[in-house]
Amino acid sequence: MTEINNVIIIGSGPAGYTAAIYSARANLKPIIISGLQPGGQLTITTDVENYPGYENPIQGPWLMDQMKKQSENVGTKVINKMVKEVDFSNKNKKIILDDNSEIFSKTVIVSTGAQARWLKAKNEEKLKGFGISACATCDGFFFKDKVVAVVGGGNSSAEEALFLTNFASKVYVIHRRDKLRSEKILQDRLFKNKKIEFLWNKEVTEYIGDKNLTGALLKDSITKSISELKLDGLFVAIGHDPATDIFKNILDMDDEGYIITKPDSTQTSVNGVFAAGDVKDKVYRQAVTAAGMGCMAALEAEKFLSIDND
Ligand code: NAP
Repeated sequence: MTEINNVIIIGSGPAGYTAAIYSARANLKPIIISGLQPGGQLTITTDVENYPGYENPIQGPWLMDQMKKQSENVGTKVINKMVKEVDFSNKNKKIILDDNSEIFSKTVIVSTGAQARWLKAKNEEKLKGFGISACATCDGFFFKDKVVAVVGGGNSSAEEALFLTNFASKVYVIHRRDKLRSEKILQDRLFKNKKIEFLWNKEVTEYIGDKNLTGALLKDSITKSISELKLDGLFVAIGHDPATDIFKNILDMDDEGYIITKPDSTQTSVNGVFAAGDVKDKVYRQAVTAAGMGCMAALEAEKFLSIDND
């Protein structure tokens, strides 16, 4: 007989693990499918100093490892696989994994998060991994005493630029406007750092390099002039796209692909399917808000099961 689970959680960032902890403590025996990047975006971060409960900065990968262990200790089963397809058309929802195995559940919590956005400038695909990266914490080490650039004016680009000063001899911040949107405390640190130079009102139109990146062509958005910047590495930090491809035409989404939930709720357009974290949130996008939504989703799944559990 096919086993029908109570709660399947797809995605293993702060939202997923928090949903797992709450549903495990409600005796729902949750299963979490950890996905492409177990632990989510925090696993490619270094210092975390805005997750409450820690006096001093902690490391992102350590925090996610703690969340995983905490969820397992209270009764969560973690499956290290990818979900390749879902079918939510029946009361018992079907989830197909990358090894073609199928699992069924009365409720599903979607917490698949978001992925880095790329510039889509000429030669980007060719030079990705050969000087172009979207993760300074993963690849910054390779640029010791080299000249690098970070593209973007948000918190991510600020953090990446500051991190890169630990290795690189020079860090350009290329921004399409003349104002940053990052928090003031990060802006202060950027402006104070002697290794960092800003290139305002500039867009990367082309990457230069045969096998490895050697530079980029920048277009000035005011004068429209093009200039060449010599570089050993370039880090794209211009935001993220929600990981919702497998839910297209299944769950209601907005124009940017974020899952739509009912106001003050994690309930999606399908009964018994809930969404939490960056996959449904383009406003706050914090580990702590994602964790809060994971808690909400678990409580809502529990309530759904108590009413609908035949
Ligand atoms: P973001 O805040 O959306 O900033 C993206 C930046 O990239 C913006 O400056 C934007 O320019 C620029 N940009 C977007 N598309 C571009 C394109 N095609 N070409 C050139 N530039 C482009 O993204 P984020 O920095 O990844 O942050 C996302 C969320 O996570 C935010 O809510 C942020 O506060 C949060 N976050 C928090 C922390 C923290 O608290 N420690 C760390 C990282 C991220 P414009 O300014 O002109 O729009």
